Amino acid sequence: MPSEFDIIRRYFTRPVKRALLGVGDDCALIAAEAGMVFAVSTDMLVEGRHFHVGADPDKLGHKALAVNLSDLAAMGAAPRYATLALALPEADEAWLGRFSQGLLRLADAFGVELIGGDTTRGPRNISITVMGTVPPELALRRDGARAGDELWLSGASGDAALALAHLDGRIRLAGAALAHCLARLHTPVPCVALGLALRGIATSAIDISDGVVADVGHIAERSGVAIELRYAALPRSRALQACADARLAAECLLAGGDDYELAFTASPDARPRVESLAAELGLTLTRIGSVGAGEPGLVSVYDASGAPMQIARKGFDHFGS
Ligand code: ADP
Ligand code: MG
Repeated sequence: MPSEFDIIRRYFTRPVKRALLGVGDDCALIAAEAGMVFAVSTDMLVEGRHFHVGADPDKLGHKALAVNLSDLAAMGAAPRYATLALALPEADEAWLGRFSQGLLRLADAFGVELIGGDTTRGPRNISITVMGTVPPELALRRDGARAGDELWLSGASGDAALALAHLDGRIRLAGAALAHCLARLHTPVPCVALGLALRGIATSAIDISDGVVADVGHIAERSGVAIELRYAALPRSRALQACADARLAAECLLAGGDDYELAFTASPDARPRVESLAAELGLTLTRIGSVGAGEPGLVSVYDASGAPMQIARKGFDHFGS
């Protein structure tokens, strides 16, 4: 049975380049960068709540870091460091090997150094803190949207929720559509390059973790503006287009969550810059709505005919059929 220290040494200790001191001491040491502030965020994944018992450890390692990097992306911050607090029911080395592999592969892909953490016995729980850097005046906050701005979404929403609907037996996906949706659910790719490119362009930004309407609502609240969403304008993957259940499709698109795309606002004057950076980054960026001066915090969704759709902000119960 490996000790706590064996586990840390074998699976989570790697040479650091950027940090002054990494895993192994009482604290890690990291240097401040000139002109930058640290953007810091923590996300926790709890077994039975955020992932199933028996979930693939490699994908879990990936997702645990990916959801944190998504927060840095939404702030326009460059990923730098991460710490990992891990509770495990037992020292399962096969699990640890695969988990650390999934996590460290994504860390390498985004130039993130794992510089510390904590390891303890307990119900399986993965808590990661990430640190990124951004010039303070360019951070993409939630409170900068202004009436007249346009609302944009990267990629497409709803696919992770569609995968969940498949796993729950509500629909049947197959072939490429199933593979696409499962990848979106289990191995999301954080929009780091987009977040960096939006510095100085977006007036506000957020990553979509709880669903488009709920998350855009945070921008509306923090900015003190009303947001109008055009349902027909929402980008849809091929898998979602093929979904015959219109109500389920609407749920997934508007309230699905786990998308880890970025929603952001920008002035109409910035439209050419947004469009050209979509081309540069090889991304789809779609105008899905606009910011108005209505009731602060309100998000309204309009269908293709211009009629308002009834949506419960936190749930899916009140969609029109
Ligand atoms: P302390 O008793 O000072 O909290 P620990 O024995 O918990 O130290 O940890 C020893 C070292 O290993 C520390 O540098 C800590 O940051 C690091 N560490 C512990 N667990 C992890 C982990 N899961 N991933 C990365 N680093 C870890
Ligand atoms: Mg400790």
